[in-house]
Amino acid sequence: MHPRLSVDEYTKGILAGDRNTLSRAITLTESRLQEDKILAAAILQNVLPYTGNALRIGITGVPGVGKSTFIEVLGKHITSLGKRVAVLAIDPSSKKSGGSILGDKTRMEKLAHDPMAFIRPSATGLSLGGVARSTRESMLLCEAAGYEVILIETVGVGQSETLVKGMTDFFLLLMLAGAGDELQGMKKGITEMADMIAINKCDGDNKAAAQKAMAAFRNALHLFPKPESGFSNPVVCCSASEESGIAEIWEHVQRFHEITSENDFFIKNRQLQSLEWMQDSVRQMLEENFYDHPDIKRKLTAVRKAVTKGELLPVAAAQQLINLFVKRTI
Ligand code: GDP
Repeated sequence: MHPRLSVDEYTKGILAGDRNTLSRAITLTESRLQEDKILAAAILQNVLPYTGNALRIGITGVPGVGKSTFIEVLGKHITSLGKRVAVLAIDPSSKKSGGSILGDKTRMEKLAHDPMAFIRPSATGLSLGGVARSTRESMLLCEAAGYEVILIETVGVGQSETLVKGMTDFFLLLMLAGAGDELQGMKKGITEMADMIAINKCDGDNKAAAQKAMAAFRNALHLFPKPESGFSNPVVCCSASEESGIAEIWEHVQRFHEITSENDFFIKNRQLQSLEWMQDSVRQMLEENFYDHPDIKRKLTAVRKAVTKGELLPVAAAQQLINLFVKRTI
């Protein structure tokens, strides 16, 4: 890692839109070192008045659905309209593979070379909670650096959708025709979280199937209660590789922004998200302090053994450890 700059230098660099300083500040948010965390918090506090102005968009879908291809094309469309776009990722699989979905820059080569765009691969080696925290902070830093649209990519597995939904204004679900996707999505409740569904790869031999899936989704969505946002979730077809349907998708996003700004859903949702962020942070900080505590570390192995053997009830074990932690920290 580079030598650290001063808080002032980071702040000035970010506000001037300097990508190198932005990258380095994002690296601080991903660091586990206490001094980096303190530095990152000071920078965030400084840039806070310059954040919040971007449109935050979450994009999800199973691996292979075409997320990177789609984000590249959508990103280029947005920059062609004169807006600056930042791409971040939450990738729960990156911990295992040691890589990340965006690690392979060549997947978004055109966008990566666009001076109006900034692409940041997912943090590796952090827990999902850690990745979520650093992504939230990175998003604020990108906003302070003048990015007007933030695209957050996530793989359609596990809790990552809920996390991304909790930090974005608009949630887009990419799907494929067939392959049992319709049902899978319904079961996971992801379709209910989505503000819009786009059936990708609507091209070539797949076109008819994609259009059929679109009709099926439209019918299915009619059965859901009207979304709180006041925006009737559209279902559309697109082709990332043929670049069709992209402008239409962006228009829907704009309309969502207009409607929800007018009916106050936009701001209320942001306020709710801030409170949830605080709650998550409390939980996370407590847990980190708890497991880092030397007395807990000492006791944990024996307690875990007793629980595994069935000698101690898990709840009683938790209570014992909490009592110990509280006694030693007060
Ligand atoms: P991700 O895993 O969701 O990020 O998916 P990728 O963007 O890496 O795409 C997976 C594969 O689908 C690649 O081989 C892409 O070339 C292909 N692909 C992506 N979008 C489209 C599309 O709109 N139409 C077709 N036919 N193929 C696509």
